[in-house]
Amino acid sequence: MTNKVDHIGIAVSDLEESIKFYEDVLGLKLHGTEVVEEQQVKVAFLPVGDTEVELLAATTPDSPIAKFIEKKGQGIQHIAFRVDDIEAALAEMKAKGIRLIDEEPRYGAGGARIAFLHPKATNGVLIELCERK
Ligand code: ZN
Repeated sequence: MTNKVDHIGIAVSDLEESIKFYEDVLGLKLHGTEVVEEQQVKVAFLPVGDTEVELLAATTPDSPIAKFIEKKGQGIQHIAFRVDDIEAALAEMKAKGIRLIDEEPRYGAGGARIAFLHPKATNGVLIELCERK
């Protein structure tokens, strides 16, 4: 179903400071940023090899990222696997009885179509399915 980690989502408190770390210490290059209003999050994209680090910072106190950091602190928030056809992938998950957060694909940063599997169905990891055209 997938053969690629599309990106790793990392929740951070301070986007600028985190970008600086990945650029100055690990030598990655910022590819761009985007505010995703629906998720109340500002995303920074830092490609690495054929995948990407996505830094996620809350834009409001109610953001899912703010809640994540409140509960668990900064750190890896989700792992996204690339799929060719997200509807087919979701149908396959449903057929396998996997609990979903998103029954239907929604908008993801960078124009992707994404859907999350429930961490209770994945041994504790928030897994995103990600389709890019
Ligand atoms: Zn993601």
